[in-house]
Order: sequence, then structure tokens, then C-alpha cells
Amino acid sequence: METVGRELIEKYNIKGPRYTSYPTAPNWESNFSEESYKEKLVSFGQSNKSLSLYIHVPFCESRCYFCACSVLIHKSFPQNFQNEYIDSVLKEARLVQGIIGGRKKVKQFHIGGGTPSYLSVESLERLMAGISDYFDLDFESEVAIEIDPRFIDLKKLSCLKKLGFNRLSFGIQDFSEKVQESINRFHSFELVSALFKDVRKVGFENINIDLIYGLPNQTMERFQKTIEQVFQLKPSRIALYSFAHIPQVVSHQKLIKDDELPSPSVKLDLFMYARNEFEKLGYLAIAMDHFALPSDPLADAFENQSLHRNFMGYTTRPADEFIGLGYSSIGFLENTFVQNVKSLDSYFKLLKEGKLPVSRGLLLSEDDRIRKWVIYEIMCHFELDMNVFQEKYKVSFRDYFHDEATGIHDCEMAGFLKCEENMITVTTKGKMFVRNIAMVFDIYLKKDREKQVFSKTV
Ligand code: SF4
Repeated sequence: METVGRELIEKYNIKGPRYTSYPTAPNWESNFSEESYKEKLVSFGQSNKSLSLYIHVPFCESRCYFCACSVLIHKSFPQNFQNEYIDSVLKEARLVQGIIGGRKKVKQFHIGGGTPSYLSVESLERLMAGISDYFDLDFESEVAIEIDPRFIDLKKLSCLKKLGFNRLSFGIQDFSEKVQESINRFHSFELVSALFKDVRKVGFENINIDLIYGLPNQTMERFQKTIEQVFQLKPSRIALYSFAHIPQVVSHQKLIKDDELPSPSVKLDLFMYARNEFEKLGYLAIAMDHFALPSDPLADAFENQSLHRNFMGYTTRPADEFIGLGYSSIGFLENTFVQNVKSLDSYFKLLKEGKLPVSRGLLLSEDDRIRKWVIYEIMCHFELDMNVFQEKYKVSFRDYFHDEATGIHDCEMAGFLKCEENMITVTTKGKMFVRNIAMVFDIYLKKDREKQVFSKTV
């Protein structure tokens, strides 16, 4: 097992982005207009580009203390409230489709949250029927939904299968009772194990499990038990995320006691332990924090270098452009990030007025696009071919990144990178610090450090 010295951890455990987007969200413009979004939709409509579609369902019955997602917490969301939200999402879908000027084929469809599995069978059926009125969902491709094990049963699973979903993503995080108590999220292994029997009975094969390391009261012993239990469930894909502790931004994270958090070196040990166990059991390590059985499409995407990074982490890359529907949703099309309003009242109001509920966005400059490509090469493929860069951007890599030469050299000296002729390769040790490597190329971190509020990289 690769070990990393305490000194290295102390030096490189600094605040930095996860790079699910570049430029990162704090750098998007809050005065991004509806007109600008419309222009992008029109130009996308005139192209032959393919589409990924994301729908955000923000409902959650209770707050998990670690979570930084955009959610609405309520004891219950009655059917009439669910209807109002779905009606608004469908209104947004109709507006978007009208501006695009025709039906587009959706190569990747994902419902996330929040807790999408909180929706009733009736709501799920209404939502899917409505979306199919405006877009052509490709059921041969990925049709995925996030599941909270506390809000799903056999009836809902059968409904999801009937509606054409072919990938389920379960938020598990950790099975230890002590850890669950510290994060206010309770679901026993027995409950999830019984649920997985139903999942398989219904016929789902593509199953993701999300885990988090670095949670309060997570010890090696407790985490080992969680990993053992995950193996008993045999998911086809595992995402192992680092806990992003940013109480200065996510205020409810203040409910997590600092002295209950594992130290950076224990946190790294938890990650290394899990990574080794996953590999021993036949999972392939995919980029920074994903693991997949060889039969899972993510493994293929990694092998043939078509892996992609977006707001949902690592994905296969079936589509060129990405549209988000729903409160706070994010999209990326025609080199532009777009995000919807984060207030539910504004979301409802703007749609009632027939307006797109966009709140902020960013049209990428040429420099943004170049740096985005470099960062994603490093984060997705762990290597960068300077010849490919030169062919793509008609400029030498070393000339363009002259100011970054010291940062690249520092990463090489730390053992994170190997630079040979025209190839930069991330080492095994560097894979654990890949966010630090990516930060070398992030111009916004140099421009305005104060504006950038992120979790620590380890
Ligand atoms: S982790 Fe999931 S269930 Fe918990 S608050 Fe966040 S979105 Fe809701």
C-alpha cells in the first residue's frame, strides 16, 4: 500500500476546488442574462450536437449535516406540492425546447437531488411522461436516478424499471451507527441489504454506491466494516468522495464537531485502505475517486480515454452538451455555464411569467477553454500529451504555461508528476493530490484568492 508522509500531507492539504467545473462556480457571473442563455439554446438547436439532460429534485425530509447540495428540508412534501414542482420543471422543459426549436435526442438522462426517490409513483410517472413530450430519451443509453435507501420500496423500484431507468445511484456514505449519528442520517446495513435484493429482483444491474471518507467519528475499524458490507452488496460502481468540510459556506456543517473529524493523515489512510480493498476485489480505480467492475461502462470509458468530468463527478461521455432543469440546476452548452435560481419562490415566479429561471453563468474565454481541457486531462486521464495540446491549440504547451513552470516543477519534486519529453504523467502518489496538480493551472486562484472558498484537498 502506497504511504504518504505527514510532511507532504501538511504541505499539500490546502483549500482547493474539486473541479467538477472549470472555471469553478464562485467565478461565474451573477448578472448573466436570460437573453444570453436563449442565444446559446438557439445555437445548440441549430447544431447536431447531442445532449445530456439533468433534473434536480430538491426535496429532503431531514438535513444530513455533511451535505452541501441545494435542498429544501420539510417534514413532508404532499402530492399537491410535488405536482406544483413537477409542473414548473415541465414548464421549463417546454420553454427550453421551444427555444431550441425542436426535439433533441437525450443521450444521458439523470435525476438528482435532493432526494428524487422521495417522489411518489404518481409524480415519477407524471415527470417522465411530461419530459418525453419535449425530448427523446434514449433508453439504450444511460437513464439514471439517485436513490435514498430510506425513501424507496419494491413498488417504486418496479415503477422506475417500467419507466426505463437503467442505473440506480444509492447514497450510503457510511454504515457505522456512530458515524450516522454524527451526520444525522440513519439507514442500517440490514435495510439496504434487503433493499438490494428487491433491486436485483426487479432487474437492475447497474448500481452505484456513494461513500464518503473523512466523516466525523469515522475510524479505520468502522470504515473497514463499512467496506466489507459494501462488498456484500456488490455494486457495479463505487464513488468514494472526500468529505468537503466548509462550515464557513455550508452553515449547518457547524453541527459537526471539529474534534470528531479524522485527522488529514487518518483521512488519507481511510482512502488508501478502501482503494486497495476495492482493487483486490476486482474493481478498477477510475481517475480520482471512482471504482468500477470491468463490466461497467465507466471502466471502458477510462480505458479508452473518453471519461468526462461534470457536476456529477466522473461520467462516461455520451453527449456534447448538458442542460439542467429545476431549481438550482446547472447546465453547460456552447461553452457556457448556466445555473438556475437557488430560491424556490423565484423559480416558480419566473416560470409563471414565462421566463427562463436563470440566475448566473459564464461564457468561457479561449484561455478558460484551454485551461479546462488541461485540468480535465489531468483529472480524468492522469496524463497530458503536449503534442496533442499543440495540435489542438496551435501553441506550444511550454510557451503557453510558462508562468506555471515552477508549479509543475514543484509537483514533480513532490513526486506527484513525471515530465518526460512531451508527456506529463500523474504518479500513483500524485493521484491522491490530483486536485493540487490541477490547481497549478487554475488562473482564478491566482487572480482572486479571497473569492475562492473550498474544502481542503486531502
Ligand atoms: S445527503 Fe441527500 S438526503 Fe441528505 S440532505 Fe443531502 S441531498 Fe438530502
